[in-house]
Order: sequence, then C-alpha cells, then structure tokens
Amino acid sequence: MEFKDKVVVITGGTRGIGKALVETFAFNGAKVIFTYAQNDEMAAKLKNEIESKGGYADPYKLDVKNYEEIEKWRDKIIEKYEKIDVLINNAGIIKDKALMMMTKEDWLDVIDTNLNGLYNITRNFIVTFMKQKEGCIVNISSVSGVIGLPRQTNYSASKGGIIAFTKALAKEVASLNIRVNAIAPGFISTDMTATLKDDLVKKMLSLIPLQRFGKPEDVAKAALFLASKDSSYITGHTLVIDGGLSMRD
Ligand code: NAP
Repeated sequence: MEFKDKVVVITGGTRGIGKALVETFAFNGAKVIFTYAQNDEMAAKLKNEIESKGGYADPYKLDVKNYEEIEKWRDKIIEKYEKIDVLINNAGIIKDKALMMMTKEDWLDVIDTNLNGLYNITRNFIVTFMKQKEGCIVNISSVSGVIGLPRQTNYSASKGGIIAFTKALAKEVASLNIRVNAIAPGFISTDMTATLKDDLVKKMLSLIPLQRFGKPEDVAKAALFLASKDSSYITGHTLVIDGGLSMRD
C-alpha cells in the first residue's frame, strides 16, 4: 500500500467530500489527521468507524480562520508525527446571494474560510515540507472558481483565488520536490448541495452532460491519485471533476 504510514492532513473532514477523503486515505493505509469546525459527535463517529475497520484517524476541532490556533496545533502535530506527507485543503463554506443582496459579512465569511483559511493552514505547513524536501498539497477549489457562477461572487472569487494560489505555490516549491495541485469539483452530492432549490437542481442537471451530480468518492479518488507517485510529473494543475459541466467546444 503506497500510503502505508504516510501522514495525511485533511481539513473539513467530518462530512461530504472531506469524509470521503478521510476514508479513502485511511483505507489506503495512511495515518489521517482531520479537522472540523463544530461537529464533535460526527468527528468521533468517523474516527470510530475508521478504527473499527483497521484504519487510523486523529480528529481535531480547529477553525481554519484562526491563524494563532493553527500555529499551536501545527507544532503539536509535528511533535507527535515528526513529518507530514500530504496536505489536503478541503474545508469550505458557501453563502450564496446575488451581489446586490450580499452583505460584507457574507463576503468576508466565505473569503476568510475558503481562501484565508487555506493560506493559514498551508503557510503553517510549508516550512515543514521545505525542510523535508518532499510533500504534496491538494487544494479543493470548485468549478465555480473556473467558470464563475451567478449568486456566488464570494465563493467564485475564493475558489478562483485557490487556483491561482495553487499555480503560484507550485512554481515556488517545485525545485524542493513539493507538488501542489487543485481539484475543481462541479456539483457533488453533499450537505452543501442539499440546500439547493429544486428548480436550480433541475437546471444544473440539464447542463451537466453526464446528467447527474458527482459523489464525494469521485473527488476523493482523484485526490488519492494527485497525492500518489502515479502523478509525480503533475504540478500546478487543476483537475476538473464536473460531469462535463464546464467543458468547452
Ligand atoms: P460540507 O459537506 O458542507 O462540509 C464542509 C466541511 O468543512 C465540514 O467538515 C465542516 O466542519 C468543515 N468546515 C467548515 N468551515 C470550517 C472552518 N471554519 N474551519 C474548519 N473546518 C470547517 O462541504 P462539501 O460539500 O463536502 O465541500 C467540501 C469542499 O469541497 C469545500 O471546500 C467546497 O467548497 C468544495 N466543493 C464542494 C462542491 C459540492 O458540490 N459539494 C463542489 C465544489 C467544491 P463541521 O462538520 O464541523 O461543520
């Protein structure tokens, strides 16, 4: 198993895509450290499920917006595991509204969680990766950051920012044997998309060539590939997983 004893940090691991990421890496032999914002019960349940099937999972309640808290947590992680092999920046939120209705709080909340949160976590682990001269980062962006979606100016801006961040960092650290890639999922069935109104779901389905939403596992399997040796010549790339939604003629 390629990931046996690899230390993999995943943010936002309790639900949806994050949960699938935690399971996929844990069942491929990794020691998975995952974070979440508030749901202690769900985190404990996931840890138990994974351990009952022979995997390893170590959950931490940690707000990706809190730089100081992350700094202390990073020290704890490095002291306990002595290294980190893979970082997956997955935590994210939406607060969809037309721009004319979007408050400054709606804007800042999404940018702070999705983009500044990714900076906070990556900034704290990049030195570890640089010292190791080895590592792999996978950032979860969105198709919304590639094509832009109405009522998501805050979210599209944060996710487009993640793609630019990914390319810039990939160029910066490539010579140190650190790869940085992103995944841009389309519509994936999770709590996040469960709140979409029926008429919007119908409209989106009509625009997706594969005529269905994706599964969290579709994203997790791609992340496993981007973190594996099989993708050792891929860096700075954004892998779109959207059933063809953003395909151009
Ligand atoms: P989800 O089901 O809403 O889960 C979000 C996860 O992020 C939860 O584990 C949550 O923890 C955690 N989280 C939220 N705010 C956080 C914070 N401030 N600090 C730490 N953790 C935080 O979301 P999802 O659909 O799986 O989405 C996961 C990622 O994929 C996000 O970045 C999202 O933007 C992206 N994405 C999703 C889709 C989609 O269709 N679902 C499409 C494109 C991109 P708690 O459980 O404790 O709240």
